[in-house]
Amino acid sequence: MVEVAASTRLPVGFAGLDPPASWPQPHSAPCPERLERPLDTLAGVGPAVKRKLARLGLETVRDLLEHRPFRYETPVPERRIADLSGDDEVVIAAEVLSVSEGRRGRLKFLRARVADESGTTTATWFNQPWLKAHLQPGTPVRLRGKPGRYGFDVRSYDLGEASATADFAPVYPASEEITPKKLRELVEAALPHARDFPDALPADLRQRLGLPLVADALTVLHRPRRADEAERGRRRLAFDELLGLQVAIAQRARERETEKAPALDPHGELVQRYVALLPFELTPHQLEAIGQIDADLAREVPMQRLLQGDVGSGKTVVALYALLRAVEAGYRGALMAPTETLAEQHFLTIEPLCAELGVPVALLTGSTKTQLEEARIVVGTHALIQEGVDLSDLAVAVVDEQHRFGVEQRRRLTQGRSPHVLHMTATPIPRTLALTVYGDLAVSEIAKPPASRKPVVTSWVTEERSAEAYRRLRKHLAEGRQAYVVCPLIEESETSVARAAEQEADRLRRAELRDFRVGCLHGRLRPAERRELMQRFKARELDVLVATTVIEVGVDVPNATIMIVQEADRFGLAQLHQLRGRVGRGAEQSFCLLISRAREELTDSARERLEALVASTDGFELAERDLEIRGEGQLLGTRQAGLSDLKFTKLRADRPLLEQAREVAGELIEADVLVPCPGVAPEA
Ligand code: ADP
Ligand code: MG
Repeated sequence: MVEVAASTRLPVGFAGLDPPASWPQPHSAPCPERLERPLDTLAGVGPAVKRKLARLGLETVRDLLEHRPFRYETPVPERRIADLSGDDEVVIAAEVLSVSEGRRGRLKFLRARVADESGTTTATWFNQPWLKAHLQPGTPVRLRGKPGRYGFDVRSYDLGEASATADFAPVYPASEEITPKKLRELVEAALPHARDFPDALPADLRQRLGLPLVADALTVLHRPRRADEAERGRRRLAFDELLGLQVAIAQRARERETEKAPALDPHGELVQRYVALLPFELTPHQLEAIGQIDADLAREVPMQRLLQGDVGSGKTVVALYALLRAVEAGYRGALMAPTETLAEQHFLTIEPLCAELGVPVALLTGSTKTQLEEARIVVGTHALIQEGVDLSDLAVAVVDEQHRFGVEQRRRLTQGRSPHVLHMTATPIPRTLALTVYGDLAVSEIAKPPASRKPVVTSWVTEERSAEAYRRLRKHLAEGRQAYVVCPLIEESETSVARAAEQEADRLRRAELRDFRVGCLHGRLRPAERRELMQRFKARELDVLVATTVIEVGVDVPNATIMIVQEADRFGLAQLHQLRGRVGRGAEQSFCLLISRAREELTDSARERLEALVASTDGFELAERDLEIRGEGQLLGTRQAGLSDLKFTKLRADRPLLEQAREVAGELIEADVLVPCPGVAPEA
């Protein structure tokens, strides 16, 4: 890393504007060490306050300056001094006549006589003696506060200019021991140190992105004159955090660049036959993803691409294309799934197509040891990466549901060989988050399902109306359609979950579904049994599949048009969305009926989850909603990525900023200029 040259410390100025005279002036040259000083070096902080601040996690000057306001006061009405009365907060605009210092016990205060054209009053500041210098007679002031015992108690202020920082006073995360007002005073005292923050962004870059200096960003974060100014400051600080993260991610990706994968020749006859064989046209999103994959495969740098798309959006079709590209170039392809059911499901989907193309496929899971010699495409679980499986001529690996694989498993897949890797995920991760968490992956997004698809109509009914739900389900069955019934989630052993599912299937066979052929799918079936069951369901030898969440992924039967989820309130939002994705796969209108206990018995978040599902079938929108309901802190993978350290970034709102940071990180690395990055760095 290079040190920031002195010349990059730019003239003071907020995005080209002259800073107002009242802004903290640099006391001398920037000095980052000063930021690490303990807080009792600030005026107004004694041992007691220091302890209280420490309990808020604030120990140094830097901590205080990086303490982000969580909101700003909304402006209050402006009053003439003659009209001051009552107990409401107001703003006065006046001019200083005189100033004096006083002390009562340990309490220091400043008093200023101030006047507007209507009258005069005495404005009082406590414990901020340094303000005296700014209160010379004749100084225009704008003060926000309340009429008090001594005249006017000032809560926030602008001195020396007619701007309005007082109107947008910051409100800080505080504690019972330290009020937001006290914090405001302390931050004010620390604000001159904003100039001690090193500015890591080269001037031309900063200008190009329209970002203010760090020092100015901190100043307006704590003392905005307009609402949008604070936001502008926050964005600069967030940008630095995101850049730090993206540089680290890009460096990691660059380390991998020494690895080589076979560069595949432009696509040929096999994939042409494949595309011709599909009973439908590829959608524009699928074609775009395929184009991106083709470009990746043409290079020796191993592809690291995330193929994101909602359930049923048509990812598997794209994945098989990538695998066939390997095969036609004389290599092998591997498809790795997180569970045996899913691996089998993939096998069942791709095997018939591959048979028609004359491409041998093998299924390899923990319990099926097939001869691999012949196979050009191997489908399996993590057993694929276990020793003894020779995948030396592997050119393309597709990893489905990649977040379910540990980092370690992913590393082992590529260890000692460097295939092109396509990661598929059906869990819609908001794009912002995908870029942050999987920042070292290129992203292809299938944002729209095939146009023939109708969104699943979802309703939510309570238990006492479940008879009606089954009536609707039987109506579909009578019309020759098929259905799923998802059993409640119970947090016990897989064996007891399986037993409960069997019991429920038996009960339904005798009651609601007595006239129909009911199968039961759960994780305790032997793979051969499971495969047979799925095959029978596909072949319409079964009308209903009673299932545990093992059907969550992969099961693909377009004739299944209705699903009942029992005790739906027990499931997570993402999980319910995945389950629902098992219907709505054909051209017919499909339905999902969520059954829960009575509304009053549900938690707020359970209610919100079910409402969200009824309201939307868009996985990305639901993922965002899930974020809101659960809060950003608990997101998948965020801890590992160091995201818990992001102080200024708002993951959802800052998506464009993140993309800029990603671009800039690439440029900086390309140019071999590394900025010293404040903020976070993910673990290597
Ligand atoms: P995903 O893997 O994203 O869940 P799949 O690739 O399994 O989705 O596709 C879901 C269903 O949609 C399958 O039955 C598949 O044959 C069908 N399908 C895929 N692409 C198209 C398309 N372009 N037009 C019509 N149907 C499609
Ligand atoms: Mg699929």
